[in-house]
Amino acid sequence: MVIVMKAGATQAQIDAVVARIRELNYDPHLIKGEERTVIGAVGDDRGKGVLQTLETFEGVENVMPILKPFKLASREVRKERSVIRIGGGVEIGGNKLCVMAGPCSVESEEQMLEVAMSVKASGAHMLRGGAFKPRTSPYTFQGHAEKGLKILAKAREATGLPFITEVMDTADVELVADYADIVQIGTRNTQNFSLLKKVGKCHKPVFLKRGLATTISEWLMSAEYILSEGNPNVILCERGIRTFETATRNTMDLSAVPVLNELTHLPVILDPSHGTGYRRFVAPMAMASIAAGADGLMIEVHNDPDRAWSDGPQSLDLPMFAELMQNMKRFADAAGRSL
Ligand code: PEP
Ligand code: MN
Repeated sequence: MVIVMKAGATQAQIDAVVARIRELNYDPHLIKGEERTVIGAVGDDRGKGVLQTLETFEGVENVMPILKPFKLASREVRKERSVIRIGGGVEIGGNKLCVMAGPCSVESEEQMLEVAMSVKASGAHMLRGGAFKPRTSPYTFQGHAEKGLKILAKAREATGLPFITEVMDTADVELVADYADIVQIGTRNTQNFSLLKKVGKCHKPVFLKRGLATTISEWLMSAEYILSEGNPNVILCERGIRTFETATRNTMDLSAVPVLNELTHLPVILDPSHGTGYRRFVAPMAMASIAAGADGLMIEVHNDPDRAWSDGPQSLDLPMFAELMQNMKRFADAAGRSL
């Protein structure tokens, strides 16, 4: 249920409603908008009738059921778009687009630093790089783990750019959250509910990739797992889904962007590297993402893509990324966004 407070409701009135929600064994989630406060009461759907009694509380305008299966992620609970603040002055979800760039895997300090300095010079806002790699085969490179996180931290120090990196195991959430500015949940873990609950308790924003075969509604329910644990900073990432098409590695679902912008207040980032699997398709899909209303892009960039330890075919080289950033400016402009 959502409890909509009157525009001039006092803090004492809000506190009284929150206390009653707790008494009824629901979790109160406060959403302070520009004009009014809305309180989401989340819990077992079966007992929601008792929440209706909050209508008689001072300062309450009305009490409404949340129609969508996802609650805290929905626009019904929060009309304004969420803007997520990352370290280093970066924001995701505002007018300015956020571009995250870097190699699929952190391979060595030299590689990461070379890529980081170059993408920074080209105008990227964040670094990316995998330290824990979810590989299809157990015989391929699995990532440098904590050593990789240390290299990413050095690259952040050298460039001033915050970084995002994936966590795959509940046991590593605190470790990764201590180093990273954003914790990534990869496509293979979108419905790993224990991992989602764990990152829902961590102190860093979470980047939730769409599962290989999850519907938009299922994906938003995964976001709900993180939000309902108390972490409000969730960013969604469309990275392509499995379809019958084999010409591209995945099928990038561009229509997910306007659909999500209607259903949720959470920012949406597009990943045309995993979305297409081929570097020549990255630029056109990046432009299309901006046109569709994305809040930013995640792009794999490598100093020597043909020798990359993972995802070389879809990685841009350094000059290609510089050119893409230049070309994206015009598209951002046309979409009324800055870059
Ligand atoms: C990645 O970002 O390198 C990655 C493994 O992504 P995904 O989970 O989308 O495959
Ligand atoms: Mn990759």
